[in-house]
Amino acid sequence: MITKLVLQFDNFELLILFAVAIIFFLILLTDIKKQGRRMTLVNPEIKVQLLCEECGFKEIRDFKEGDYISKKPGDKCEKCGGDMYIDIIYSISKQEGARQ
Ligand SMILES: [Zn+2]
Repeated sequence: MITKLVLQFDNFELLILFAVAIIFFLILLTDIKKQGRRMTLVNPEIKVQLLCEECGFKEIRDFKEGDYISKKPGDKCEKCGGDMYIDIIYSISKQEGARQ
């Protein structure tokens, strides 16, 4: 179908236009591939900062399902044995480390 079209017109300009279209398509394709790779690299690690009610001792651990700010997961303070509550939930992007 495409070759028939080129032969019919036998136009050099059309050929160039066709080549440019292919190049453009390839650039677009590689860009999509790059984007896909970037998306797999971004793997945010969610951290939770626990704070002791009694002495203010801070502890950081990985996020667990069901965690929310001000929740008391039942963890005890390493220093005084007081109740810990979730103070901050934040994420760290691993992208930089994964690139190397
Ligand atoms: Zn404490």
